[in-house]
Amino acid sequence: MIYLDHGATSFPKPRAVCDAVDEAMHRCANPGRGSHDAARAGAEVLYRCREAAGELFSVEPERVVLTASCTQGLNMAIRTLVRPGDWVVISGFEHNAVTRPLHGLGARITVAGRRLFEPEDTLWAFRRALDRGAKCAVFTHVSNVFGYILPVEEMARECRRRGIPFILDAAQSAGAADIDFEKLGADFIAMPGHKGLLGPMGTGLLLCGRLPRPWLFGGTGSESENQAMPDFLPDRGEAGTLNVPGFAGLTAGIRLILEQGPEAIGADESALAAYTAQELEKLGYEVFRGRRQLGTLSFRGREDCQILADRLAERGIALRAGLHCAPLAHRSAGTLDTGTLRVSFGFGSTWEEAEGLLDALRKSVSGL
Ligand code: PLP
Repeated sequence: MIYLDHGATSFPKPRAVCDAVDEAMHRCANPGRGSHDAARAGAEVLYRCREAAGELFSVEPERVVLTASCTQGLNMAIRTLVRPGDWVVISGFEHNAVTRPLHGLGARITVAGRRLFEPEDTLWAFRRALDRGAKCAVFTHVSNVFGYILPVEEMARECRRRGIPFILDAAQSAGAADIDFEKLGADFIAMPGHKGLLGPMGTGLLLCGRLPRPWLFGGTGSESENQAMPDFLPDRGEAGTLNVPGFAGLTAGIRLILEQGPEAIGADESALAAYTAQELEKLGYEVFRGRRQLGTLSFRGREDCQILADRLAERGIALRAGLHCAPLAHRSAGTLDTGTLRVSFGFGSTWEEAEGLLDALRKSVSGL
């Protein structure tokens, strides 16, 4: 299979990740629930995961809350900072994992910066929106539909300057871009473990600059006599049994990223996307491309996107059509009516895979 859907989850997982999951399945019991060896081994796995994340993102290990997905982390962060009726500024490229929790809470939303691949416009609109009064800001690092890299360092600076708390959604950048928690000064950074960090599905991380408001209540293995959730990290955000084998795999994934460096990985993915975009244009497709683009790109032709994706799937080429859980991004780019086909490269993607897709399209799979 030619897998070009890394934006959904990285696949296949590296051998080291699978081995680490397998080992933990055989070695680990529930951490923090006993003093025996198997429980200690489980606790050690979780600590190693926080430590590896700490190294990659310049954050203290105890500030790393282990979650089941980026969505979970975003919900916890948003529920900490936003109350019903609050004004919240978001970018024009947010995923439903940001917009739905805000909608569910009854927040009032200002969408700032809808122009694709125009960081100056994004920043200008963002500043203006903050100045009109905002309780907090939530923005994505990289659009999951278009690969647009938002100017998040500058956006973070604008928030800090005004004392406005902010949440960064690093779902598409973690593992493929430099993210420095200390330097950004974010209140929260949420990310999945299962995309660019190469871990198993069912893993995610929430980096916490402040105590989160718990959204799930239960046992933590600490302060059992206390009926309130502990008021310290990471326990406050981690009720219930954690996915120990998953986090063992995630640690192995993060170690691979640390070896190669996220920026080098991102540069390879960007180069693949830029080449593919250029060749797709030669084939007559409308391609959404720009200077600040990571390894994801969207395109469309005259034919229905889903039909084309189905035909490619029949030929063993995996990509994703439709709205990609991000109708706001499609509305911003003017593609809400048709959706797009999304190609997303990832760790280990090759030039041969890019050529495989292009060849299939050249052979008029599309009927263009
Ligand atoms: N935010 C963005 C930008 C995403 O692309 C995704 C997933 O595709 C999410 C959030 C949600 O991530 P998860 O599936 O890990 O909950």
